Amino acid sequence: MRFLPVFLDLQTGPVLLIGAGELARAKMRLLTAAGARVRWYATDGNHDVSGLDAAEAARIELAEGDPLAADLRGVIAILCAGAGDIGTAMSARAKAVGLPVNVMDDLLHSTFIFPAIVDRGDVVVAVGTGGASPVVARRVRERIEAALPARIGDLATFIGRWRKSIHGRIPEFPLRRRFWERVVDGPIGALVLAGRGDEAEAALKDIPDPSAFAGAQASGQAEGSVTLVGAGPGDPDLLTIKALRALQDADVVFYDELVSSEILDRARRDASRVPVGRRVGKPGIGQDAINKLLIEAAKSGQRAVRLKGGDPFVFGRGGEEVEALREAGVAYSVVPGITAGLGAAAQFEVPLTFRHEALRITFLTAHKAKDAESVDWSTLTDEKMTVVVYMGMTAAPSVRAGLLAAGRSPQTPVGVFARVTRTDAQAAVGTLDELPALVRQIDGGPAILIIGDVVAHSAPWRNSNLAQLVSYFQVAAE
Ligand code: SAH
Repeated sequence: MRFLPVFLDLQTGPVLLIGAGELARAKMRLLTAAGARVRWYATDGNHDVSGLDAAEAARIELAEGDPLAADLRGVIAILCAGAGDIGTAMSARAKAVGLPVNVMDDLLHSTFIFPAIVDRGDVVVAVGTGGASPVVARRVRERIEAALPARIGDLATFIGRWRKSIHGRIPEFPLRRRFWERVVDGPIGALVLAGRGDEAEAALKDIPDPSAFAGAQASGQAEGSVTLVGAGPGDPDLLTIKALRALQDADVVFYDELVSSEILDRARRDASRVPVGRRVGKPGIGQDAINKLLIEAAKSGQRAVRLKGGDPFVFGRGGEEVEALREAGVAYSVVPGITAGLGAAAQFEVPLTFRHEALRITFLTAHKAKDAESVDWSTLTDEKMTVVVYMGMTAAPSVRAGLLAAGRSPQTPVGVFARVTRTDAQAAVGTLDELPALVRQIDGGPAILIIGDVVAHSAPWRNSNLAQLVSYFQVAAE
C-alpha cells in the first residue's frame, strides 16, 4: 500500500486547480460538488464555468497570472489536470513545501491520488488500486454499491445526531459501542433503512435505560463472551459469514500459529491480537494458560475470539476450552470452520466418499510415532473407509506400518496434501507403500494425509498418471 486512504476536510482552505479543458472541468465538478473552494488557474486562459450551478460556481475563484508563482499560503491541496508541463513544475513546488499534490495520470509526480468513490451522504467509500487500475477500482465500486443499502448514509447521519446525548448517558466506551451495534443491527436501524426516520427517532427516544439496552451487567459493565471461531485451512475466502462477523465484533483475538495473517487482517482494526499457539520448535503457553486468558478477557467485559485453524472441534482442543469456559460461567459460542481434511479434499478433488468405493471416513491423529503406535489400526482395515490423518507427517512411517499390519494393501492410493487452500499448496500422491517417500517430497507443513481408493480420483493422481502415460509413450516411440 503506497497510498493510505484518508478523508480531507474541504472546509479548511482552498484547493488549487491548475489546468484547462474537459479534464480540469471534471475535477472542478468533483471538488465543488463535495463542497470545496477552488482557486482555478486556467492554463489556456479560458475560465468557462458553464454547467456548474450557481452555488458551485460561487465557490470558484478565478486566478490570474503564473500558477508557478501562486501564493500557496492556506492552500490545502494542489491539483493539476490538463496542465501540460506546468504539472511537473507545480508538483516540485508543492513537494518542496509539503503540500499534497495530484498530477492527473502521473503517479510519479503525485503525492495523492483520487479513489473511486461510493457516495451515500455521510457514508463514503473510497476504492483505490494505488493507481494501477482504475477499471478494477470501478468494478470494486460497483460491487460495494450493490451491497450497500441505499439509505446507509441516513443511518450514519441519524446516529451522528444522537451520538453526543448517548455519550453522556453511557460513558463506558465498550458498552456504548454495543449500544450502537444493537441500534444498527436491530429494529431501529431497519426503520431508518426503510425510510421511516421519524419512527426510528421516536423508538430511540423511548429507550429508558441505554446501558441496559446495550446489555450491561449488574456490575454496570458490558457482558463479556468468548467465541471459538474456526478460521479454515488458510484461504480467507473460506471464512464463514459468522466467523467474519465475530472477528469484526471482537475486542481481542487469541489466535493459533496455524492462522494466516490474511485471516487475522479481517479482524476489527482496533482489536488486540494475542498469539497463543506453538511456534515451530517452541512450546506454546499451554492449554491452562490459554483457558485462563479467555476467562479473564470475558470477565473483564471483552468480546474475545479464540481463532483456530480449520475447525475448533477437530483436533483443535475446542472441547477443553468450552469445558473451562462453562466451569467459569462465561458465555461462549462456537463457529465452525472448514477443517483441513475437507479443504484438501475440495482443492485436490478427493471425493471422501464415493458410491460403493468409500462408505466411511475416519479422521485420526498420529502426532508422533509414539501416538501412531497407540492407534488401534485394526479398526481401519475396511477397504471402503477413507482415512484422513492429521499431524501425520513425522509419523508417516508408523502410519504406513500400522495400516499394512492391519491388512491394508500396499497399493492403496494415498495423498499428502500440504498448506491446503493457501497460495503455496502442494500435493504428493502415490501408494501406501511409498507414504514416507511422498512425505519427503513435501516442502514443509502443515500437511494432511488421505488414504483410500478415492485418492485415485484426485486431480494430482489423474495428472501424474497422465504424465506417466505420456512418458511411457515417449519411451515407446524412441
Ligand atoms: N483444527 C484443525 C486441525 C488442527 S491439528 C482443523 O480442523 O483443520 C493441526 C493439523 O491440521 C496439521 O498438523 C495438519 O495435519 C492439519 N492442517 C491444518 N491446516 C492445514 C493446511 N492448511 N493444510 C494441510 N493440513 C493442515
